Amino acid sequence: MTQASPRRRPLRVGLTGGIGSGKSTLGQMLQRCGAALVDADACARAVTAAGGSAIPAIRQAFGEEFIDPAGALDRARMREKAFSDVGAKARLEGIVHPLVADSIAQATLEATGAGHHLIVLDIPLLVESKRWAPGLDAVVVVDCSEPTQIARVQARNGLDVPAIEAIIAAQASRAQRRAAADIVVFNDGIPLAELHARAERIAARFGL
Ligand code: ADP
Repeated sequence: MTQASPRRRPLRVGLTGGIGSGKSTLGQMLQRCGAALVDADACARAVTAAGGSAIPAIRQAFGEEFIDPAGALDRARMREKAFSDVGAKARLEGIVHPLVADSIAQATLEATGAGHHLIVLDIPLLVESKRWAPGLDAVVVVDCSEPTQIARVQARNGLDVPAIEAIIAAQASRAQRRAAADIVVFNDGIPLAELHARAERIAARFGL
């Protein structure tokens, strides 16, 4: 009797990059090449949205006034509280971070169940947080110069330059990110078509 061949475990590839580097764009391109895309930011938004898994614990820890009429975390109110109460941010993160990790693990499990061979995890703070590396087979970093980051984020979000510089300063440096990378994609001064060609080569390297 022939036995079914054992199922191949999908490769899990972390994708990261500074704000405006083009990380989300590359993630979507890899998805079009056949990878499953797990978006950590979307998971983070979902747990604090109305009906999200973090809402009951936030309500219990901070009170009903931090939940908006729709049932989501009231972010403006929480930001205000964080100014006057230094421990509030850490308490919120203590609730939210494990649930975000659960949500990412669940999405990864679903992609595995759906038969994907390559799962790309788009994780903005992959290098800043030590928790992700052990579960990943490889790390892809999208890199670009700071002036390019600023120009892209200005065009996309309309933020002013000091605000963008503050976000960049709070993130890992380009050198720290590159040091954590198995593959670096330098997405600066290249057209989107060239980025897409890089995505196809990366997908092929991971077996798609
Ligand atoms: P991130 O997810 O790293 O913050 P995005 O992928 O959202 O960045 O890209 C930021 C903006 O820059 C988007 O509007 C995207 O279309 C644009 N962009 C990214 N790479 C390129 C490129 N090579 N050429 C032109 N525009 C780009």
